[in-house]
Amino acid sequence: MNFLIAIILSMILLIYVIVPLTENKYKLAFVPFVKKNKKIKNLQKRKHELLGVLKEIEFEYQMGKLSEQDYNDLKNDYQTNVLKILKELDRKTNDKSEIDDIENEIRKYRSKKKNGSASAKNFKYCPNCGKTVNTKSEFCTNCGKSLV
Ligand SMILES: [Zn+2]
Repeated sequence: MNFLIAIILSMILLIYVIVPLTENKYKLAFVPFVKKNKKIKNLQKRKHELLGVLKEIEFEYQMGKLSEQDYNDLKNDYQTNVLKILKELDRKTNDKSEIDDIENEIRKYRSKKKNGSASAKNFKYCPNCGKTVNTKSEFCTNCGKSLV
């Protein structure tokens, strides 16, 4: 009987030790992704709500419950909000591809710069005949003029 109690107690202890560990693991692995998706979902939900309100405003105006002034003001307000959300959504969903594009541009620019400076560093022009010569050579390989 004591043995059984000991087993149950150790199992309870084990659960207390393991559960927080697995929870932490879960959090570390999944939260950033979930958070981003949640933000996008929230924005989509908000967009949906605002579009719903816009339809209601339109309906109420047609029913004669809203004056034209109120209708236009409300419509403008909600439309700018919807546009803001659409832009935010666009930015969020395109984040990664945008960063990739920028990185590619930087890489291209860097490799171009590297090539340019490498050729400028290793070669100069002979003042006599205009041929490209190695910066290290003391005489022009074409006309033989001294370069020092
Ligand atoms: Zn020369």
